[in-house]
Amino acid sequence: MDFAFTTIQEFNDYFKDDKTCYQFLEAQRWPDGPVCPHCGSTKKPYSVTPRGKQKDIPTYRCSERSCDLPFTVRTHSIFDGSNVPLRKWFQAVYEISTSKKGISSKELGTRIGVSQKTGWLMNHKIRNMLADTAPKLLGETDMVQADETYVGGKNKNRHKDKKIEGSQGRSAADKTPVVGLIEKGGRVMTFVTPNTDADTLNEIINNNVAEGATIVTDAYRSYATIGNAYTHITVKHEDGGYVVEDNGRKFHTQNIENFWSQLKRGYVGIYHYMSPKHLHRYCNEFATRYNLRDVSNIARFLHVVRNADVEKITYRKLTAKA
Ligand SMILES: [Zn+2]
Repeated sequence: MDFAFTTIQEFNDYFKDDKTCYQFLEAQRWPDGPVCPHCGSTKKPYSVTPRGKQKDIPTYRCSERSCDLPFTVRTHSIFDGSNVPLRKWFQAVYEISTSKKGISSKELGTRIGVSQKTGWLMNHKIRNMLADTAPKLLGETDMVQADETYVGGKNKNRHKDKKIEGSQGRSAADKTPVVGLIEKGGRVMTFVTPNTDADTLNEIINNNVAEGATIVTDAYRSYATIGNAYTHITVKHEDGGYVVEDNGRKFHTQNIENFWSQLKRGYVGIYHYMSPKHLHRYCNEFATRYNLRDVSNIARFLHVVRNADVEKITYRKLTAKA
């Protein structure tokens, strides 16, 4: 598809009306023609002519006798069950996937012309689309840095985030731990965890890092039990060292620390508060933005739109008590 933009104006010019957006989404989701979202049939569906406001929206009815249900390209996608025009959804995807530091629900609502509550729901749904749907093992091409950080807590406690001796800076009664793995020059993965015990950290590492990889951590004691399957290099920050040299190679945890800085700047500057329940979504959003850092705005937008076929999240589900 001939499709290019570098600014929001060009983006809005391209997606000039809802019909264009539907046709675009169809080309992305159904490259070989419509697929019934109810029964999966690829048999050519009947075209339906809707009335009123919906008259320009491509609408179908499944031609399988046992199914016979109506659908559009939005059915059973992240855009389903919403009165917000697809064009506004696309604008929201653009805003969220291209903003460097994230965007608050209120700001999103203002920019695309929906209420804050609607903006909040769209924000969460799009973040869900941003999740890595086919993660691969880390560490096959370069060293992996493992580290954890603490997010949240009351504003008044934030400046008291000082190091306690021997804790490697871990002092966080009312904060939520996030464990991060980053491949130098590659991808980052984040995990919101109940604690930072050795068992928790080892399980995450064993499930996500390729055997034989080199893992770099600081001297936190939970990392002391990383198994023989890995080469473990410890950087002792307390001794003033930030780089360990071994056979002419330099090992450090700078990449994951830079990622935490980005996450925390987003937290403080944009979102002000992330509830522990939704923290993994925000972490996914930041991780995806990092992992797609070298791709164009177009590719980033397409990545999100092509992942539209995910399990539906409803407002009720998002607001349910954990
Ligand atoms: Zn069907």
